[in-house]
Amino acid sequence: MPAVAKTPAQTRPLPKPNSDFYELAQTLGPEEREVLQQVRAFMESKVAPIINKYWAEDSFPFELLPALKELGIGGLALQGYGCRGGSALLLGLVAMEMSRVDSSIATFFGVHDGLAMGSIYAAGSEEQKQKWLPPMARFEKIGCFGLTEPLVGSGASGGLTTTAKREGDTWVLNGQKKWIGNSPWCDLSVIWAKDVADNQVKGFIVENKTTPGFSVEKIADKIALKVVQNGLITMKDCRVPEENHLQNGKSFRDVARVLRMTRYLVAWEATGCQMGAFEHAVKYSQERLQFGKPIGSFQLVQDLLARMLANVTACQCLVVRTAQLHAEGKLGDHQPALAKAYTTARMRETVAWARELFGGNGISLEYDVARYFADAEALYSYEGTYQMQNLIVGKAITGLSAFL
Ligand SMILES: Cc1cc2nc3c(=O)[nH]c(=O)nc-3n(C[C@H](O)[C@H](O)[C@H](O)COP(=O)(O)OP(=O)(O)OC[C@H]3O[C@@H](n4cnc5c(N)ncnc54)[C@H](O)[C@@H]3O)c2cc1C
Repeated sequence: MPAVAKTPAQTRPLPKPNSDFYELAQTLGPEEREVLQQVRAFMESKVAPIINKYWAEDSFPFELLPALKELGIGGLALQGYGCRGGSALLLGLVAMEMSRVDSSIATFFGVHDGLAMGSIYAAGSEEQKQKWLPPMARFEKIGCFGLTEPLVGSGASGGLTTTAKREGDTWVLNGQKKWIGNSPWCDLSVIWAKDVADNQVKGFIVENKTTPGFSVEKIADKIALKVVQNGLITMKDCRVPEENHLQNGKSFRDVARVLRMTRYLVAWEATGCQMGAFEHAVKYSQERLQFGKPIGSFQLVQDLLARMLANVTACQCLVVRTAQLHAEGKLGDHQPALAKAYTTARMRETVAWARELFGGNGISLEYDVARYFADAEALYSYEGTYQMQNLIVGKAITGLSAFL
């Protein structure tokens, strides 16, 4: 952040911005806390200094991949197959920690680790997991997840138009997938398509760079998560061997199992995004002078900060309880849906208040908070919109489905 004049009267050192008021990180054991500290160090020392440049350029910072590999966090909370393992709480806190500095990096990780690896872990055969997960855990092969289509988003459960037709030991895929994160450059795609024989949704691993008929066009000029490269995938008579058909993915229920976990992850990302915006706002309020005083000394500014921290803390408590339910084997579809809806809605408020606190500087990328403000919009909509999450929750509350 550019230098801001200090008040001459200020003698006492002011507290460092702290968005972990209720000491959430302390709920981890020492070994997992160490992992979290390493992720924080990576995000603050390697990502923070360069990320605005990449955001402005609409490009992905490949220079970060070697350090990310060294962190050894591929396959967090997945057991075996060369994965890092660890608790669901650690996975959540890592996603939060990443998003605290940059939601694009958190999203890149969430797509590769949660959606792509998570699909193979949940729906792949033993052989498929042995083959694909170890190189993905080492970040040697990067994955994406193709569910959404140009004409089918919220209605994906019943409406996919991408087709899969079996011909002997080969499947022929036809159709398009839109918004697919990492797809313009990654190695493999988990594609969900409708089997024309039984009308059920099935998953396929497609090798992006070597499969004829598979092409990706980068989606340009986004206003959010500009560092994540999203693509429009087109499949024209794309032939995939039966060995790449996810053997335990029998219907859309298996996609829903994956989405349950990744919505849980997005709730953590939304919490982290507002933590970062809040911390930037606190620092600015301590340094920016108006009327000869730091703006943080004004009552209305303190009220804004207190409201931001209340949002952050409410979200943190919600996602930690969601992690406990996960560990107890009690996580249904409705708790992650409520967590995603609630945290993303609070995030939108928090980042808007943070931006407001910066005045005009709040719309300049130079001061970071504009990036949080813009990126929050994508988190709010992806992996199921606010309305779709609330329909899942509404069904759990009433026992009545409002889905068509
Ligand atoms: C940055 C970004 C990254 C993404 N990454 C991926 C990815 O990696 N893989 C992937 O498969 N997809 C990805 N997506 C797609 C994302 O999951 C969809 O955008 C999202 O599910 C919403 O679908 P849609 O955009 O088609 O909106 P639509 O479904 O067209 O919805 C438009 C509006 O209508 C509302 N609406 C729809 N149906 C109802 C209803 N029954 N009742 C009330 N309101 C309703 C919605 O809530 C929304 O407000 C990504 C999207 C973005 C923006």
